[in-house]
Amino acid sequence: MPRKPIVGGNWKCNPDKTEKLDSLISNYDSEKIDTSKCDVYVCPSPLHVSYCMGKFKEGVMVTPQNCNIKGCGAFTGEMAVEQMKDMGITNVLIGHSERRGEFGLMAYDTNETLATKLKYILDSGLNCIFCIGEKLSIREQGIEAVMKECAAQLEDVKGMLDPARVVIAYEPVWSIGTGVTASPEQAQETHKAIREWIAKECSAETAAAIRIQYGGSANAKNAPDLSACPDVDGFLVGGASLKPEFKDIVAAISAAKKA
Ligand code: PEP
Repeated sequence: MPRKPIVGGNWKCNPDKTEKLDSLISNYDSEKIDTSKCDVYVCPSPLHVSYCMGKFKEGVMVTPQNCNIKGCGAFTGEMAVEQMKDMGITNVLIGHSERRGEFGLMAYDTNETLATKLKYILDSGLNCIFCIGEKLSIREQGIEAVMKECAAQLEDVKGMLDPARVVIAYEPVWSIGTGVTASPEQAQETHKAIREWIAKECSAETAAAIRIQYGGSANAKNAPDLSACPDVDGFLVGGASLKPEFKDIVAAISAAKKA
């Protein structure tokens, strides 16, 4: 069964003013983006999630950038999945490298906390985008080292990789926000290796069905070539998700994967 492509926009801690949200949201209008051939989600900053709910056209899922590990209560500054469910949210993103401690921020998450979060998300009935990826120093050692790191990041969650509910976002850290995109060859080689690891550690069915997005300086220009990679099922897009070109990324993967 073919995998439906999926593209997400990660707005990170943007925009700086609420008044800019309507114009950003209009980039995702259904006249511009066809969600019948591609799942689309957007991760607004936590402060903007509420504003964005109900503002996107049919099919674009508002997806928080994080959640806590155990629900409502005395957890100052946190966001609970129960609150998300109550707001009609169906999807959460976790494990972004900027939360794993890259880019000078402290490490808010480890492989262990992320496994706890994923279990909590799935037990609560929500779906998840689970981000993984290696640093430049690991990439420089070659694909075996890269795969060892990806496997380490997936090890604690391998029993939870239900393809209907979990999407993996492979995002090489050296490529995020740098303008240095993985080449189609690098992306395909890594996505294929991740799928093979899942086949070995989970099952062939899981590996065949689970969607693996590529993330790292994806844009309208490089999306067509990356979309042609058989194991690339979509994109997680940072910078370009704040621009009108996001629609071209969705169009590129939709065209490449049409049955
Ligand atoms: C991201 O933040 O997940 C990302 C991939 O960012 P960018 O597209 O800007 O590299």
